[in-house]
Amino acid sequence: MPQANTSFDNLISTLQSAGDQISAHPDVITYLAKPQRTVQVEIPLPLDDGTIQVFHGYRVQHNNARGPYKGGVRFHPSVDLDETKTLSALMTIKTAVVDLPYGGAKGGITVDPQALSDGELQRLSRLFIERLGPVIGPNLDIPAPDLNTNAQIMAWFADEYSRLNSTEPHRIATITGKPLSLGGSQGRETATGQGGLYVLLEYLQQKNLSSLGSTVAVQGFGNVGLHFARLADEAGFKVVAISDVQGGIYHPDGLDVGSIIKAQTIGGRLVKNICYPKLNVAESSRRVGDCKEITNAELIELDVDILVLAAIENQIDAGNVNKLRAKLILELANNPTTPAADFILNKNNLPVIPDILANAGGVTVSYYEWTQNLQNLYWTKDEVARRLKHQMQSATQAILSRQKNGASLRETAYQLALSRLQETILLRGWVKPRPQDAAGRFNNR
Ligand code: NAD
Repeated sequence: MPQANTSFDNLISTLQSAGDQISAHPDVITYLAKPQRTVQVEIPLPLDDGTIQVFHGYRVQHNNARGPYKGGVRFHPSVDLDETKTLSALMTIKTAVVDLPYGGAKGGITVDPQALSDGELQRLSRLFIERLGPVIGPNLDIPAPDLNTNAQIMAWFADEYSRLNSTEPHRIATITGKPLSLGGSQGRETATGQGGLYVLLEYLQQKNLSSLGSTVAVQGFGNVGLHFARLADEAGFKVVAISDVQGGIYHPDGLDVGSIIKAQTIGGRLVKNICYPKLNVAESSRRVGDCKEITNAELIELDVDILVLAAIENQIDAGNVNKLRAKLILELANNPTTPAADFILNKNNLPVIPDILANAGGVTVSYYEWTQNLQNLYWTKDEVARRLKHQMQSATQAILSRQKNGASLRETAYQLALSRLQETILLRGWVKPRPQDAAGRFNNR
């Protein structure tokens, strides 16, 4: 019986079709179709009750043609090898889209971190880095936060890496997303949401569309979704719905996201019975209880101008794609749209600003953090924001100016990334050169 395509196979098919569109060197695609290194680790964790539980962890280093491997580490029950391989290749593409001097990697542990105590979480984080010690480093592979990992976990990672390298303990550039007092960068915490907003604003401006008052629904209220929703609200968008894993809230007049964040008690979780709609001053005493509780499925199908996906994979699939009423999709999560749904969205002319552009603000400020650590010279918040804005605007413009022949933004972004990767791989001599025409296309027949 033929096996179903894995998500890694799907990503490589997308890369292959981008290769066909730009007549790429076929050996470059063959090169990118496999990760360069796959590390699997078993972590026996001493639990607080004295027993041991073994966790599976992964680090996949997909490609380092353009620079050291770079990518986050997620702690989630769904982490497996296929997911980690897919996300590692996505990082290779993403760093090329925003033109960072990095390759791509990803890591993770199959675990529900909410089921662990703080002590267990710290021990698990340290044991993971102990296992990965020989394959990470500031010029080799640089991990960062992702789903369910945060600045505190990065601090444990960095400290454990220092402990392992006692002759050179201050190589903190090995980990990014660290707290400020441990070599973190200004603006890293908000970078992915902020970068997504810069991309969205640039897209709207290039298309002569107005941002003010545009309605927005945001799925996911963790690091990425929370900061995006707050910044979008402050920038004049009308954020009408937000959600977390348990569901969401909706108000047609828009939500006061800043007040909702203040009322939160647990990171990434919304307090459902607290609703702060956008109100004028006279109404400001009417605060609680006005919002409608909605499910994540309902949020995705809301009639809004912009649907923002900032939670997990595969949220738009063949089952719900034809029910969407949004006019534009911004992918802040990685891989939130299945390939089948993506095909239909393109056919339906519903534009999608793809993950490899929209959420690249996180890795961009990780790059700034790494640069600052290597120089021991730190930038102000304004300096970080200025550079991030410029980098996200340039990447958006590069994709929009390249888009043609009905290609989606995702296909165009893949073509851009592939052409940059191809150039470096050829220069390095990793594949044998072939004749090219004047436009740089290879004759693949
Ligand atoms: P997070 O753990 O801080 O937050 C995740 C949010 O999604 C939480 O609100 C959670 O309740 C919600 N959620 C989880 N499962 C859900 C489900 N089944 N349905 C609806 N909501 C669900 O994670 P994050 O760092 O905000 O990352 C979110 C996404 O963005 C991930 O896909 C991640 O890979 C991607 N991303 C993150 C960064 C970063 O800098 N953190 C950078 C690039 C991409």
